[in-house]
Amino acid sequence: MKRYVLGVESTAHTFSVAVVSSEGAILSNSKSVYRPPEGSGIHPFEASQSHQAAAPSVLAEAVKASGVSLGDLEAVAYAMGPGLGPCLRAGAVVARTLATSLGIPLIPVNHAIGHIELGCLLTGARDPIVLLVSGGHTMVIAYSGGRWRVLGESLDLTLGQLLDQFGRHHGLSSPCGRAVEEAASKSTTYLKLPYSVKGNDVSFSGLLTASKLLVDGGSPFADVSYSIQETAFAMVTEVTERALAFTEKKEVMVVGGVAANRRLSGMLSAMAARHSAHLTAAPLEYSGDCGAQIAWTGMLAFGAGTKVPVEDSKVTQSWRLDNVDIPWRR
Ligand code: AMP
Ligand code: MG
Repeated sequence: MKRYVLGVESTAHTFSVAVVSSEGAILSNSKSVYRPPEGSGIHPFEASQSHQAAAPSVLAEAVKASGVSLGDLEAVAYAMGPGLGPCLRAGAVVARTLATSLGIPLIPVNHAIGHIELGCLLTGARDPIVLLVSGGHTMVIAYSGGRWRVLGESLDLTLGQLLDQFGRHHGLSSPCGRAVEEAASKSTTYLKLPYSVKGNDVSFSGLLTASKLLVDGGSPFADVSYSIQETAFAMVTEVTERALAFTEKKEVMVVGGVAANRRLSGMLSAMAARHSAHLTAAPLEYSGDCGAQIAWTGMLAFGAGTKVPVEDSKVTQSWRLDNVDIPWRR
């Protein structure tokens, strides 16, 4: 018999609700995305207000589109963290209320694991080196011994923050990744920028400062966009390559909002091919934050016995994915 889990995502800019079946079908994935004012980043409290305002209609739309009646839901999953406190609380309230009123279990999900597990479902990747590149994460990850392990990460900004802060400096509104990609596609002029790989970690703060200075000094935005992409993407490709060579895995999977970037996936796929591995990427609609990540990971976790009493449920702004036991992969 098919089972159904509803998932709520609200860690940052996106409030999203999805329903998935135990067979891995995504039956709905409704969302509302908070857009900060031009030139500024996410304001956590304003984002949470936007989530609260959107919640009733997003929830209703997700349930209706799924064709599943509320009484047929087996559990409600929510993103417990990591993320922005007010945003996390907005989603948790919705999930707790629903679980309590339906009398069904509540399942806490780590948002980053959500990106990875939904990516595996949709790409068919079984044991990949994962590059998670989003607004909240820049990590190279592999599964081993009951947990997803971090084999490299950013020591400061995430790749999404680098592109967003660079774009905002030029007056674009966040998220800026797509606009930077578009500007970069108009240039092939590489301007020298700092390349910073330390061990198997990366650091983007010097790259951001140098890129802003180039723009301030009058260099064309397209040239600097091209150069920041070439530099940052080469850095993450290098650390992903080292993880791949070391583990001798045969799949590379890129997930997170920055996975939408074609230059990044081009570099990664050329690198994977050199190791007789292949690159998979979550489809665009599911590579950024969405409820389906939480619903599907909630389904896996619930199947392995994870749940939390509503009165003990919490949210946590910092929650590293390598602290999470993954019993469903053992
Ligand atoms: P997420 O946190 O997973 O929703 O990802 C959001 C991040 O993805 C933001 O920092 C965006 O700027 C970035 N992003 C979205 N589309 C692109 C793109 N085409 N190229 C680079 N970054 C992108
Ligand atoms: Mg994310």
